[in-house]
Amino acid sequence: MVLASEQIGSPNSYHGEVQEFLARTHGHFIDGRWVEGGDATPISVINPATGLTISHIESGGAVEIDLAVTAARASFDSGDWAKMAPVERARILFSLADLIEDHAEQIAHLEALDIGVSRAMMHDIGVKLAADQLRYYAGWITKIGGKTINNSRPHAPGREFLTYTVKEPIGVVGQIIPWNFPFGMSIGKIAPALAAGCSLVIKPAEEAPLSAAYLADLIAKTDLPDGVFNLVNGVGRKAGAALARHMDVDKISFTGSTAVGKDILEAAGGNLKKVTLELGGKSPVVILKDADLYEAIPAAARAIFFLNGQNCMAGSRLLVHADIHDEVVKGLVEIAEAMSIGSDLDNAYDIGPLISKRQMTRVLAYIDTGLGESAVLATGGKRAAGLAGYFVEPTIFIDCTSNMRIVREEIFGPVLTVQKYDTEDLDEIAAIANDTIFGLSASVWTKDLSKGHLLAGMIKSGQVGINVHAAIDPATPFGGYKQSGWGREFGREGLEPYLETKAVTAYL
Ligand code: NAP
Ligand code: MG
Repeated sequence: MVLASEQIGSPNSYHGEVQEFLARTHGHFIDGRWVEGGDATPISVINPATGLTISHIESGGAVEIDLAVTAARASFDSGDWAKMAPVERARILFSLADLIEDHAEQIAHLEALDIGVSRAMMHDIGVKLAADQLRYYAGWITKIGGKTINNSRPHAPGREFLTYTVKEPIGVVGQIIPWNFPFGMSIGKIAPALAAGCSLVIKPAEEAPLSAAYLADLIAKTDLPDGVFNLVNGVGRKAGAALARHMDVDKISFTGSTAVGKDILEAAGGNLKKVTLELGGKSPVVILKDADLYEAIPAAARAIFFLNGQNCMAGSRLLVHADIHDEVVKGLVEIAEAMSIGSDLDNAYDIGPLISKRQMTRVLAYIDTGLGESAVLATGGKRAAGLAGYFVEPTIFIDCTSNMRIVREEIFGPVLTVQKYDTEDLDEIAAIANDTIFGLSASVWTKDLSKGHLLAGMIKSGQVGINVHAAIDPATPFGGYKQSGWGREFGREGLEPYLETKAVTAYL
């Protein structure tokens, strides 16, 4: 398959390499090499900005997952990685981070094609953050260790107990990721698992699998032993489900929707594998009466419209005090109506395409639901006219109430709901913010930092920003309260789920 330049962007120094990569039908990376397998018909990889096919992946299933798990098990049991000297393991992960930076242009290009954004955006956000995160976890490898315990057991005179703990890698890990920021998601999953000494099988999202396949090519150039990193392409209900229920997988780490998260949990029950889940959100942006609106209004727009709302931390529920409500809404509508809509590999647009036709249809259906629920459309509400891809206008609903479906359910598109409140009682404000099944992210906007910290303490959410929304950082734990997930990623907390703790007691 040779693609026209309008499909892959203007020629550049790595043009031939990108062409060649896209022309491949990407199979499964198992035990250090690419193998074929799965359904006879491969899956088309589509650029959502054009709706055109740009590459293909094979559709693996239980057979390929089993091969990959077997390879991961053999590598884990061999100790080639798990028992390698920590400094050596760190060196290999640092070398992978360098390779990623050396190939940042290519990764950003593939990612931009896969999800329909500009190369520059993926370069700065997707690739740079990923390399930082890999280095962050590479740094942990030499610092993982247990502790000695003051054991109180009665003992014979002259004898004592020595008790200490040891941290061991949990074993073979299955990882399933979604399509928003696929490269960052891949690194976010593999970095702590590899740092802990685990072997893994990752299943990328069928809708954006390219950068993970490119990562496998880069990993093949490092000294990571074969079989430690394995990748199986395919759809979730086959390849993903087979990984989640595999009896020889010790832990599954899933990022995606809350609905699929519940399926994962059920599938994991067969061997009681450990589970961590990073799920959906419906994150409140709470603007207090005294907020600096010059800061808060554009930040609230960014919080919802960044990556077209296809962001688990999207600030999709705006709660705003009645006294400033009209000014805030006016400002947001002005920003939304001035946004550029489109997609170009070389130029950034404010609003790009949704990932798929299915996702666009889903978002438009939610907009209809909002209209039916008597929310008032302040701006947007339609598919963007004249564009071939899956673009939806930035949309703002006002006069929303907590019982509406558009306020309760994650839309995962550029749709903001605005709720007006008329109280200064922080408990009452927190109660509105907490009136949701989710608890992933939140932000509070105020000039009074005491109020900011008090509300941060009351909001049931894994992340709370005070005058900032969604401040992601490799060292800062990330994850959800309530139905937004189980466990944490990033930081030391993100390493722990890949480690077992063994207590050893000796009678001296
Ligand atoms: P999704 O539909 O839940 O899919 C996520 C992954 O799970 C994909 O790889 C998918 O495969 C796979 N999958 C689907 N059904 C499966 C099953 N029955 N068993 C095993 N795996 C299965 O989510 P998405 O639409 O890709 O992503 C959007 C969602 O992810 C949103 O809800 C968003 O909030 C959430 N998200 C959460 C975080 C976080 O850190 N908390 C971050 C980003 C996104 P296929 O797509 O290939 O079929
Ligand atoms: Mg795609």
